[in-house]
Order: sequence, then C-alpha cells, then structure tokens
Amino acid sequence: MECIKCSKPAKGVCRFCGRALCEDHMNHMPFILTIYVGENHTPKAIVVADALYCGICRPQPEPIEMPELY
Ligand SMILES: [Zn+2]
Ligand SMILES: [Zn+2]
Repeated sequence: MECIKCSKPAKGVCRFCGRALCEDHMNHMPFILTIYVGENHTPKAIVVADALYCGICRPQPEPIEMPELY
C-alpha cells in the first residue's frame, strides 16, 4: 500500500475512509465508536481519541441524530 498523498509506503489507513497514509501524512481525530441512548434519552457517544485520519475526508464532527432509534 502507498500513501494517498506522496506514494511512500503507507504505515496505516484512515479510520474514517480507509485511505492509506505514510507517517508524514497521518493526522489524528477523535473517532466515534458507537452511540447509545443514556438514561434521560440523551444520545451519548463512545469516542476513540487520536484515531488515524487522512485530512481529506470529512467525518461529521458531531453524532448525527437518529430519531428512529427511539
Ligand atoms: Zn505521505
Ligand atoms: Zn479519510
């Protein structure tokens, strides 16, 4: 696998979109692992800090409302 940005050997892949990344082009961003509904019917997110991120794709910064889950 080669880095999507510079074609050097990739060291990992973006957690959000799967693009390959070398050490130089790795970014980090919190990754929302799962969302659940808490006691007060408030959606809560379990987040992994510093997940690999390519800097190209656009993950939603906030959990998306999913009213059909209620
Ligand atoms: Zn690179
Ligand atoms: Zn990405």
